[in-house]
Amino acid sequence: MSDPGVPADTSDPRTTLRSIAAGLRTRLEGEGRAGLTAVPKAMPDAEATNTTGERREYPAAPAAGSDAAGSGEAGSDEAGSQVVVAPPAPTPEAVAASIKVELARQAPAEARTLDLFNFGSVPEEDGFSRQDALARIAAEVAACDRCRELAAGRTRTVPGQGNPHTRLVFIGEGPGEEEDRQGLAFVGRAGELLTKMIEAIGLTREHVFICNIVKCRPPGNRTPMPDEEANCMPYLARQLEIIRPRVICALGGTAAKWLLQTHDGITRLRGRFYPYRGAQLMPTFHPAYVLRNYTPDTRKKVYEDLLKARAAMDEAV
Ligand code: URA
Repeated sequence: MSDPGVPADTSDPRTTLRSIAAGLRTRLEGEGRAGLTAVPKAMPDAEATNTTGERREYPAAPAAGSDAAGSGEAGSDEAGSQVVVAPPAPTPEAVAASIKVELARQAPAEARTLDLFNFGSVPEEDGFSRQDALARIAAEVAACDRCRELAAGRTRTVPGQGNPHTRLVFIGEGPGEEEDRQGLAFVGRAGELLTKMIEAIGLTREHVFICNIVKCRPPGNRTPMPDEEANCMPYLARQLEIIRPRVICALGGTAAKWLLQTHDGITRLRGRFYPYRGAQLMPTFHPAYVLRNYTPDTRKKVYEDLLKARAAMDEAV
C-alpha cells in the first residue's frame, strides 16, 4: 500500500487508483469499517449471463453502514449533551464511482468520449465493475505508444467493445480504415458480415465482445508484426481476464496463429476447439476472407464453426 502522505504520481492511472483506494481504506479502517474488500460479489459469475449471453438482473448490493453511527445525525448522550456524530463513511459503491470519475478525468479525451462500455455497472469482488476495468484498459490503450509506427499513424485506438458479461469473445487481427476512423472494432465491410455471422447463430453484437489482436491500425492494413502483437498482448490478456469468456472465436489466421502460437494455417486450424486461458478457442475464417471467397463451401464452414461456438457457449457452466 502506498503511503497516503506521499503525493501520488498522477501520470499513471494505476498509481492514482492505488493511492485513492489506499487513502479511502485508511479512512474507512479509522472509522472501524471494512474497506473496499467488503463489497460483495453481486452474483456468481456462472449466473452473470443466460444462454443467449444477456445480462441477468442483479440484486442490489446490500447498503453498507446502516447502523446508527453511520446516520450522520446529531443525537444526545446519557447526560443530555449534544453529540455530533460523524457523517457516514462512503459506501464502497461511492468509492468505486469516485475512482472511476478520477480515472475518466485523467484519461485522454479520445477515451472519454467513446463511452464504449455502457452496459451497466456490476461490482466485482474488488468493488470495480468489469465495465470500469475495461474502460481503464481502453484509456491505457489510448495513451499507448509501444509501437511507434502504429501510434504515429493511427486516428483512434480500437480497444474493442461489447458486453463485458458475455460468454463469447471474437478476436480479429487489427483495425482497418473504418475502425481506425470510428475507434470501434469491426465496423467496416468485414464488420457488417461479422454482424450477420453473429445473428446467424441467434445472437446480436450486444451479446458478445469484439476486439482485435492489435488495437491500432497497421499502415495500409498490413498484417501486424510479431513485435506489435506482443506489445499489444497484455491489453488483450487483461480484457480476457476481466470478461472470462467460455468461448473465444479467433477470426482468421493471424489471430488464430498468434493466440495458439502455431505456424499452422487457418484452413488446418479451423473447425475444432483448442483450450485457451480457461476458455475454448474456435478458429474460423476471417469475415474479410469470406467476403473475398463468398462461396457456399466457405460460408457453410464458417457457419458450422460458429454453431459449434454457440453450442459450447450454451453448454458451459
Ligand atoms: N478486420 C479485423 O481484423 N478487425 C477489425 O476490427 C476490422 C477488420
